[in-house]
Amino acid sequence: MSGCCGPTAIELKASSQAARPDELTVVVIGAGPVGLAAAAHLAERGIDFTLLEAGDRVAASVAQWGHVRVFSPYRYNIDAAARRLLEADGWTAPDADWLPTGAELIDDYLAPLAKLFGDKVRLGAQVSAISRLGYDRVRTAGREQAPFLIRLADGTELHARAIIDASGTYTSPNVLGASGLPAHGESDAADLVDHALPDVLGADRDRYEGRRVLVVGAGHSAATTLLALAELEHTPIIWAIRAGDAGRTYGGGEADALPARGALGTRLRAHVTSGRIRLLTGFFTHRVHATGQGVEVVSRDPSGREQSVTVDRIVSATGYRPDHAIASELRLDLDPVLGSTRALAPLIDPNQHSCGTVPAHGVDELAHPEAGYYAVGVKSYGRAPTFLMATGYEQVRSVAAALAGDWEAARDVQLDLPETGVCSSGLAEAQEQRVGLATGISGGLLSTPLPLATVSATGTAGATATAGAGAGGGGGCCG
Ligand SMILES: Cc1cc2nc3c(=O)[nH]c(=O)nc-3n(C[C@H](O)[C@H](O)[C@H](O)COP(=O)(O)OP(=O)(O)OC[C@H]3O[C@@H](n4cnc5c(N)ncnc54)[C@H](O)[C@@H]3O)c2cc1C
Repeated sequence: MSGCCGPTAIELKASSQAARPDELTVVVIGAGPVGLAAAAHLAERGIDFTLLEAGDRVAASVAQWGHVRVFSPYRYNIDAAARRLLEADGWTAPDADWLPTGAELIDDYLAPLAKLFGDKVRLGAQVSAISRLGYDRVRTAGREQAPFLIRLADGTELHARAIIDASGTYTSPNVLGASGLPAHGESDAADLVDHALPDVLGADRDRYEGRRVLVVGAGHSAATTLLALAELEHTPIIWAIRAGDAGRTYGGGEADALPARGALGTRLRAHVTSGRIRLLTGFFTHRVHATGQGVEVVSRDPSGREQSVTVDRIVSATGYRPDHAIASELRLDLDPVLGSTRALAPLIDPNQHSCGTVPAHGVDELAHPEAGYYAVGVKSYGRAPTFLMATGYEQVRSVAAALAGDWEAARDVQLDLPETGVCSSGLAEAQEQRVGLATGISGGLLSTPLPLATVSATGTAGATATAGAGAGGGGGCCG
């Protein structure tokens, strides 16, 4: 029985007898590129683990954008421990300069890697909550000796000595509503809204061709979707952004210091100038509702001025946010702006960094007050769009070393990225010429930070720490 000041001695004895944390497995949540890399590092260090993946296949989130070609070549997309394990199994690495699609990344790298781990990878295992066995967030005495409790959506529970949470952000996209809250009616219209990067020219073509489409967002995902839509005949396209103009998305055209961004922007600008894409600026999505004629989307700007548009489908390319709800009974210390750890926030701030300039970081920057819980991968970056697989791989190398007690290796964090960044439109163009690919995408080589902008209450654009964080954001380094 608990007293008002904590557990009694009898209680503590009972809880420590229930399980010895050091004998338990490490649970990794999410079999994306970073969760699988974590598994590889744990395997190399002889640490028992269980990898829980919500999807019915590995890398279920990457599969969602399987038709999109990434902008970092394979040499930066393969984790070192994963490579060693795979090569020992007879695997031949893909061409180091190849820019894989999401689907290729799975077929040629992630799926073979997962296969090495056999039944340590559990598919269809969605984690619904995590806590400490016998401890809510408030209870302290003996807390660090208590095993973690992991509850799955089917009600089963596991215990673990540590948790590496690599569950990503792809399953928690930002809302359409301009203030970060859902637009009125947004959930009722969910059937008419797709989140970023539908396969417009492939599997999803029927949903778009011949329909009126609204794309909301100012980042690369929006631009990519707009350029693909522009290839469809008889498909009116409207593009809505919060900013007063699309300068941020266009970049500087041919004069842009970042040629990749310039190329993307130049193509997009041409479509807007020709009228192929109708641009709505100062658009603050406020209300969405289905009518007999389609779905009406109403903007209400901070001064109360309204504008509206009626379309058949909406693509919400407003970025992603981490979902910390599963860990709400753990003691997390989150940066108030980005939702990363506080120690990591200044290292990944999109106002200071692009994906190419984020410094190496590891267990120390990822630690929360809740000892033994680490969010890694793109989830660790919260709302910062500066994540790269390569930085995630170094994170999990460091965390696995720490879990093995090898603190020297854990703190020796390194990142071998070229100063020019790892994403290259030059490579993309060369590859397109080589194999006749039409990726429909350019951009992504960010050797300096993007001047991401939000719109102030007066409607003027300006750089802020929350850039890219809310509706209308959605830009990423390479995505
Ligand atoms: C279109 C696009 C292009 C990109 N291009 C590049 C690039 O060129 N180079 C680069 O370095 N990075 C790129 N990125 C960024 C980043 O590297 C990827 O997003 C990468 O997939 C992140 O890996 P992750 O393992 O952290 O998360 P994810 O790949 O998102 O994996 C998370 C996994 O967790 C699972 N999951 C989620 N919730 C739960 C739960 N509750 N329980 C169990 N499992 C769960 C999901 O099903 C998923 O399989 C790109 C991103 C996008 C979207």
